[in-house]
Amino acid sequence: MCCLMPVICQDIIPCHDWSSAPVAQLFKDQYRHYGLGKARVVFTIHNLEFGAQLITKAMEFSDKATTVSPTYAREISGNPSIASNIFKFHGILNGIDPDMWDPYNDKFIQVSYTSENVVEGKKAAKEALQQRLGLKRDNLPMIGIISRLTHQKGIHLIKHAIWRTLERGGQVVLLGSAPDHRIQNDFVNLANQLHSSYNDPARLCLSYDEPLSHLIYAGADFILVPSIFEPCGLTQLTAMRYGLIPIVRKTGDGFKGFNYLAVQVGVSERPC
Ligand code: ADP
Repeated sequence: MCCLMPVICQDIIPCHDWSSAPVAQLFKDQYRHYGLGKARVVFTIHNLEFGAQLITKAMEFSDKATTVSPTYAREISGNPSIASNIFKFHGILNGIDPDMWDPYNDKFIQVSYTSENVVEGKKAAKEALQQRLGLKRDNLPMIGIISRLTHQKGIHLIKHAIWRTLERGGQVVLLGSAPDHRIQNDFVNLANQLHSSYNDPARLCLSYDEPLSHLIYAGADFILVPSIFEPCGLTQLTAMRYGLIPIVRKTGDGFKGFNYLAVQVGVSERPC
């Protein structure tokens, strides 16, 4: 099969995380003689939590390795998967894709906005979001949460913040899904509990829904990201592009404390 490979020009072969990590070794061992002799392999770590063995191999066989921020690079530099190849490892700060995340050019929101008309744009988006989810159409402070629901993302802190926000009369919109069905069920139960305890100030949308995520970024006032650790998460970067205020835990550089700013919002179990 290799003999049939077309001769193509490629300068860099980028590999990302455990899922394409084996490409680094396969390329060096088996494929580089088939027309890609000058190509170099760059391996990027997005999250060292998953697939450490594959990542260790890719670190060994890649020419350069990067990760999503200088801080995360420092944080994981002593890890056994990284340490012996530290000389080729660099942190390059992650960024959002402005073609996809731009409130001035976003097909999922009603009124395009920039810093010039941000108040008008966010007001229209909040009303559309409230209408879509059946929330009271009121100018209450609204907290958005858009997240994988896993322990990394601080789910106990998310739950705590939802209750506190409800107590204080805010609205909460959570969009998230859990790969672990026990956590997913836990959130379904939370939605039911919230619905019976409060008068509908929040929605838990327990699915993956990209159009809805755009509307939440545009319509909410705050974004909650209480991650236990975060290799430069994109959520708060996207949120700032849409004029939300991020509420976060301090992570990085071995920070272990719970410097968490609790917020106030609300929820219910209606389908989203
Ligand atoms: P991770 O890669 O650890 O999941 P990031 O913060 O790097 O976390 O990226 C998460 C991205 O996925 C964010 O841009 C967020 O908007 C999006 N996202 C997460 N959960 C959902 C969901 N349920 N529906 C739509 N988008 C989601």
